[in-house]
Amino acid sequence: MIGVTVLGATGSIGVSTLDVLARHSDQFHVVALTAHRDVDKLTRLCLRHGPRYAVMVDEQAARELSRRLKDQGSTTEVLAGAVALAQVAALTECDYVMAAIVGAAGLAPTLAAARAGKRILLANKEALVMSGRLFMEEVQRHGAELLPIDSEHNAVFQCMPAGFANGLGTVGVEQILLTASGGPFRERDPASLRDVTPEQAIAHPNWEMGRKISVDSATMMNKGLEVIEACWLFHTDADHVQVVVHPQSVIHSLVRYVDGSVLAQLGNPDMRTPIAHALAWPRRLAAGVAPLDLFSVARLDFEEPDLRRFPCLALSYQAARAGGTSPTVLNAANEVAVQAFLERRLAFTGIARVIAAVLDASDTQAAESLEHVLDEDARARGLASQLIESGVVGS
Ligand code: NAD
Ligand code: MG
Repeated sequence: MIGVTVLGATGSIGVSTLDVLARHSDQFHVVALTAHRDVDKLTRLCLRHGPRYAVMVDEQAARELSRRLKDQGSTTEVLAGAVALAQVAALTECDYVMAAIVGAAGLAPTLAAARAGKRILLANKEALVMSGRLFMEEVQRHGAELLPIDSEHNAVFQCMPAGFANGLGTVGVEQILLTASGGPFRERDPASLRDVTPEQAIAHPNWEMGRKISVDSATMMNKGLEVIEACWLFHTDADHVQVVVHPQSVIHSLVRYVDGSVLAQLGNPDMRTPIAHALAWPRRLAAGVAPLDLFSVARLDFEEPDLRRFPCLALSYQAARAGGTSPTVLNAANEVAVQAFLERRLAFTGIARVIAAVLDASDTQAAESLEHVLDEDARARGLASQLIESGVVGS
């Protein structure tokens, strides 16, 4: 039996992961489930999946969870606080860790999983964007296995030949083509983007996801973060990663080879496919996903991304090329700006303006240590908050 810890169990990826695991309870058992503060949902998940441990970051929520589970006769042990996230990611009885916490909060427990040499199913792209070099070094040093869950990166992984870690050139790969749906505003008049509401921004045409990544998809910052993620996962640079707008979200990404071949991975937009792939790799596992019906898909469209409509994508390429701490700054400013937008303190178009201003005010430095990265992250967050509060970027 393979033991699995699910970090961010109450989120969209967490719930899809538990769905796949429950279909194969003869092969996997749930070791630990974690969440920020949603007691109702984590109680239900614990009663259904019977983990040995449950973690709530919020202490009061942890007490409440513990009381409710005891009342129901559950033997799950409840732990509290952010430190416990790293503990349950490194437990001996845990073989695989699903890293599905949203944002920078996922970095420490995902690093703990790497240091404990686990198989990491990586959904939390922000952790990799924030400290890619240090994270990849820890994975290598401790013999951890890193499998991408982001649908595009999982698709690329499926289209890559063995040995890609030695450099894409050595295995005949010329380019990675990352597909993007273009989000809900692909065709909207750019002049009206200023008035977009959080409700409109999180209504994604093809995927059901958490609020933060849904806003990132609407600004196309999600794709920008994914370009940086692809550079780290596939040992390449931003010039070898092309974004292709593909509104149907049926091709999840492609890899172009020197001989002219282009391999693609297709499927319905359902995250249980990459989750099942990474759980079973190198085997395959039924995921409960409806078979792709090409006749009802009927056509596949492709467009070049419009960088004026989606300045966040251009800013991401800029940060990827600058390297060092620039992606850390980009990610931190974005997290603060998206939160402000969701709380109606910042206009949709203000998100890109905040990020651009914070990047402009930041020198690119070598990302030397985790402390340094965390300092830069905190500094960029402070600056982004100040800009938003002072209103200089436009509300
Ligand atoms: P979500 O908002 O639905 O869930 C986030 C989870 O993280 C929840 O369990 C929440 O309790 C936990 N969490 C939030 N803040 C926390 C904190 N400070 N400390 C500890 N836990 C915290 O998000 P999601 O859509 O499931 O996305 C999770 C990650 O996966 C993100 O990094 C996202 O970019 C990535 N991802 C998601 C999808 C998708 O389809 N949803 C696809 C690709 C990648
Ligand atoms: Mg993705």
